[in-house]
Amino acid sequence: MFNEAAPARPAAAVTARTVEDVRAAVAYAADRGMPLRVHTTGHSAGAAGPMDGSLLVRTRLAGGVRIDAERRTARVPAGTTWSEVVAAATPHGLAAPHGTSGTVGVVGYLLRGGVSLYGRRVGLAANALRAVEVVTADGALRRVDADHDPELFWALRGGGGGFGVVTAVEFALFPAAEVVTGAAFWAGRHAERLLELWCAWAREAPREAATSFRIMNLPRIPEIPAELSAAPVVCVAGAVLAPGRSDAPAARRAAEELLAPLRAVARPLEDTWRPGTPADVPSAHMDPSGPVNVLGDHMLLRELDGSGTAAFLDAAGPGSSSPLVAAELRQLGGALAEPAAAGGALDHLAAAYAWMGAGLPELFPAERVRGHLDRVRAALGPWDTGRTAPTFVESAHQPQRHLDTGTLAAVSRVRDRVDPRGLFRQDVMPQTTIARSP
Ligand SMILES: Cc1cc2nc3c(=O)[nH]c(=O)nc-3n(C[C@H](O)[C@H](O)[C@H](O)COP(=O)(O)OP(=O)(O)OC[C@H]3O[C@@H](n4cnc5c(N)ncnc54)[C@H](O)[C@@H]3O)c2cc1C
Repeated sequence: MFNEAAPARPAAAVTARTVEDVRAAVAYAADRGMPLRVHTTGHSAGAAGPMDGSLLVRTRLAGGVRIDAERRTARVPAGTTWSEVVAAATPHGLAAPHGTSGTVGVVGYLLRGGVSLYGRRVGLAANALRAVEVVTADGALRRVDADHDPELFWALRGGGGGFGVVTAVEFALFPAAEVVTGAAFWAGRHAERLLELWCAWAREAPREAATSFRIMNLPRIPEIPAELSAAPVVCVAGAVLAPGRSDAPAARRAAEELLAPLRAVARPLEDTWRPGTPADVPSAHMDPSGPVNVLGDHMLLRELDGSGTAAFLDAAGPGSSSPLVAAELRQLGGALAEPAAAGGALDHLAAAYAWMGAGLPELFPAERVRGHLDRVRAALGPWDTGRTAPTFVESAHQPQRHLDTGTLAAVSRVRDRVDPRGLFRQDVMPQTTIARSP
């Protein structure tokens, strides 16, 4: 389980290594009337509801990543992580629409939308799905795509889960000759000027570029250089894609246009930005690679004006006594904000930034972390779009608002058709909002 703040306590659990294992688990749960839950890595455990009385299927299917370089597609069994896909695709000059961490599971990320550092150019990651292989409540293995049960294929892509156990997915890759990527850190006292410059750049940035702006209060541990953990720091991390060799000079220029003004504010404490390959991207953001105990919050925000950035800094900046390990604004827009032709239930995010906050209850009392997350939420309230990106929701107590009422009803009709007895009903994301216990 990746998020140790949300341990899974099902009545029974099984690790499925074959499609037959999955079918046996579905039959077992159906025979006994047990709710069936699914996960791969447990990265999303904080957003999952309680598993009481359920059978948990952890998918670790064998077979490995298969790349079709000609068609620019990958087929992966459920259980595969993004770092495995990146390792297989990079030698072909191809990249995949993964997020900031290679340890994230491909299936859970794609089914929930998936916001990639390449997303401003290639769109929400779920749009890359070409086929989904899924064992439904009747025990049947179905391969669904645009021509075979297009309605289920539509609902699976961002519809919120609860359709079955996915055993494999096929998705599109895209050319990547070079990627300029990395992270640069500055002392927190420069936050105001850095944020002002970053927002101005973000508004006009090319689609090939995507970055995050984080205010970080890093723990004093041997893995983190002392100058980064002594006091709050600002981190600007991300990637600029050069699809073809001839695009490399433009990508380097775009990265320079972002970084040169920031570097002129003050010399970074650390700076790893450099031209590289897609293999460098999953580690560039420096996300934790092992399990952590984390409490988080998330909102999708509209464009931040001067009072928006001031509100963010007031609530989460270096002078705010923030206990948050990361207070992040993730740059969205570009293709992420555009509906996709033949997309699924969730095919775009109509927002300029994603707010994501994370605190470690190992370092500060959980109540203090939650209180501060609430403080930032209130401060950013005027810029809240009222929507969420499902992969960024960290708490089962947070409303899931990524589908409008009409889409939600259409998705529910598909779910009722493929799972009439509600075997997977507890694994449904839009309805997993649970009131916080007093
Ligand atoms: C360090 C870190 C960095 C991250 N960075 C990003 C990022 O840049 N962009 C982004 O969009 N998200 C990011 N995320 C969030 C991540 O994408 C979500 O947590 C995602 O849901 C993880 O998928 P998973 O399969 O690994 O997780 P799990 O918790 O195992 O699964 C999440 C959900 O997916 C469904 N699911 C998983 N496997 C199956 C299956 N075989 N069949 C059917 N349903 C299944 C289930 O509903 C399950 O509850 C990050 C998370 C972490 C911890």
